[in-house]
Amino acid sequence: MRKICFRVPMTMHLIFAVILVGGLSNCAAVLSDVNIFNDEDEVELGNRFSKEIEKDLTLYKRDPVVSEYIRQLGARLVRHSKRTNIAFHFKVVDAEEVNAFALPGGYVYVNLGLIRAAENEAELAGVMGHEIGHVVGSHGAKQLTKQLGFAALEQIVLGKNPNEFEKLAGTIARTGALMKYSRDAEREADAYAVRQMWDAGIDPAGIATFFETLRQLHKRQPGQLEQFFSTHPPTDERIQNVRTQIARQPRKPNLRKDSLRFREVKKRLPPPKRR
Ligand SMILES: [Zn+2]
Repeated sequence: MRKICFRVPMTMHLIFAVILVGGLSNCAAVLSDVNIFNDEDEVELGNRFSKEIEKDLTLYKRDPVVSEYIRQLGARLVRHSKRTNIAFHFKVVDAEEVNAFALPGGYVYVNLGLIRAAENEAELAGVMGHEIGHVVGSHGAKQLTKQLGFAALEQIVLGKNPNEFEKLAGTIARTGALMKYSRDAEREADAYAVRQMWDAGIDPAGIATFFETLRQLHKRQPGQLEQFFSTHPPTDERIQNVRTQIARQPRKPNLRKDSLRFREVKKRLPPPKRR
């Protein structure tokens, strides 16, 4: 599908967008891949959405060693990503569900349950790399463009109606609508994850092995995977795509599967809460 991403001042965005939509006959298909935000606006939106979303989350701040490890692992992947010009924020969520998600503008949330479920660092990095991939592809911003349309975006982005933004952002944040990406976006995020991991020296096979780990876990504790499976079903197609992409990469010795630090962090995690 055609990639369209405007990199023009915000005041010009809507004008360009209207010209674009007016000039295309097949708008519906194209709209799913349109992003009218430039980096600065996307970051601003991310800031506002993160504040809304965090009203409903408990961030895990009790052990800075855990949050610092997640921040550093994320930063390492970001350094090898195609979006190094925005600041990413990695936060640990005190929740047992196996889940992670990203917001536009570089906000990535990792549940304690995900760290617990990953059998090695490469598996954790695979999920984080995938979420970073959604930010690299501006998938959240594109989703927003598709869902809200230009009139609502004008209200939100140009700040004409701040109260409306609060209401709308709250609804979008709580329904998880921002994280329901297209299959193309999911594929693209997987592909970005493989590339980032490979470049960072972490074994990208972790993405595929984590899918298998999850399938096993799902048999034992289906409830913990509900959220993750609803947005990221570990389908054979995804596993196959990842393995094919890895096979096409040049040989690289010493790709790291695990680290002492990962194992230490896992030992430091608080006992799982009963559901
Ligand atoms: Zn995804």
